[in-house]
Amino acid sequence: MIIVMQAHATPVDLAQVVSHVEGMGLRPHVIVGTERTVVAVVGAERAATASGLETLPGVASVLPILAPYKVASREVQSEPTVVKAGSLVVGGKRIGVIAGPCAVESREQILETARAVKKLGATGLRGGAFKPRTSPYSFQGLKEQGLQLLAEAREETGLAIVTEVVSPEDVPLVARYADVLQVGARNMQNYRLLEAIGHTHVPVLLKRGPAATLEELLLAAEYILAGGNRQVMLCERGIRTFETHTRFTLPLATIPWLHARTHLPVIVDPSHGTGHANLVESMAAASIAAGADGLIVEVHPDPKLAASDGGQTLDLPAFGQLMSVCRRIAAALDRSLD
Ligand code: PEP
Ligand code: MN
Repeated sequence: MIIVMQAHATPVDLAQVVSHVEGMGLRPHVIVGTERTVVAVVGAERAATASGLETLPGVASVLPILAPYKVASREVQSEPTVVKAGSLVVGGKRIGVIAGPCAVESREQILETARAVKKLGATGLRGGAFKPRTSPYSFQGLKEQGLQLLAEAREETGLAIVTEVVSPEDVPLVARYADVLQVGARNMQNYRLLEAIGHTHVPVLLKRGPAATLEELLLAAEYILAGGNRQVMLCERGIRTFETHTRFTLPLATIPWLHARTHLPVIVDPSHGTGHANLVESMAAASIAAGADGLIVEVHPDPKLAASDGGQTLDLPAFGQLMSVCRRIAAALDRSLD
């Protein structure tokens, strides 16, 4: 349920509502908006009606949350969430661009990429240190050494680091280095991982599973939000269909559909979404035109040498071209890329 506070409710009124809810054995999430403060209560809704909440001082109304996802819902928070992770700001008027290789391969590779993408206007640096690979014989990532190289790249360029965490036990280690924890498509429904991330305060990039519905994506986000971590970005990265001309099928209606239902920002990954470098710029541009709050793009100084996903990876000039097109589209929509 949502407890809507009156405009003139005092901090004492709010504290009383919070402790009343806790006394009912439920979890209050206070959301302070510019127009109103609400307390989203998640848990056993049945207790709500008999609880006498409506009569507490400062309470305007008590409403059920209709969507199955609760804290993620627009019903609870009408204003967009702006995720801030160092140099990366995503949501509202700001569009963030996260660029970098699929995997961190070497010091030279990540530093050269970081310097170049920063110069071209990226605000975040991606790079997998723990790679979830389809084959156990493929390159699995440099692990902690990769995280150290990312931290070095951040040190030099100031770019926020976005890197994947693949298992709950690794969360403390990856969270020590990362500015944004990426949950990969294969792990979108790894609920123990989502819970572990929910207990950190590190911003999250949650990728859609290739066979997951958008409602399942929002419920996965809800696991993180319910743990108390509110800095969640959703990422459309393409789904599996019968079509084979692209690696995945990249549905862009996801963007306005999610925006209508959630306050969380929506990012698009046109690299995994298409699987082909020559399709990435168009789909990035289309994503911005459709209202995306950010992009995550694979970029490598020499894609043909990439240890993973080379075929969908842009070289530096191609990334520069993508940025210049996207910057113009963003400006036409009164948004900014930097
Ligand atoms: C990646 O970002 O390199 C990655 C593995 O993506 P996904 O989880 O979307 O497949
Ligand atoms: Mn990749």
